[in-house]
Amino acid sequence: MSTKCKEQVREAGMWPRYHQCKRNAIKDGYCNQHHPDTIREKAEKKQAEYIQKRDNSPVRKLWRACDQLEQADLFADDYRKLRPRLVELVDNEDPWLGWLGLVIKQMDAHLNAWDSCPKV
Ligand SMILES: [Zn+2]
Repeated sequence: MSTKCKEQVREAGMWPRYHQCKRNAIKDGYCNQHHPDTIREKAEKKQAEYIQKRDNSPVRKLWRACDQLEQADLFADDYRKLRPRLVELVDNEDPWLGWLGLVIKQMDAHLNAWDSCPKV
C-alpha cells in the first residue's frame, strides 16, 4: 500500500483552505515535488537567477562602472605621488631598472588620457 505525500497544499480561492497532497510519498513521507530537498533546490535556483538578473541590470552595471572610475582616479593619484620616486630610480641608471623607464612612459600616456577625460 502506498502512502500519500504528507504536504498540506493550499487551495485556490480567497479563504485559506488546505488539502493533503494527492501524490504518492516517495521519500521521507513526501512526493518529489514537496520533498524539502526539492523545495530548497528550487529556492536556491530562483535566488541564483535573481542575483544574476540583478547583477546584469543597467543600474548595477552603472554602479560597477562608477566604482571602477573611482578606483582609476585613486590609482592615478597614487601614481602621481609615486612618480617622482620612480623617476629617481631610473635616473640612477641602474641597468636593471631600464624596464621601469618604459613603464613610466606607458603610465604617463595612460594618465594623460585619463586626465583629458571629462568627469562629473
Ligand atoms: Zn506532495
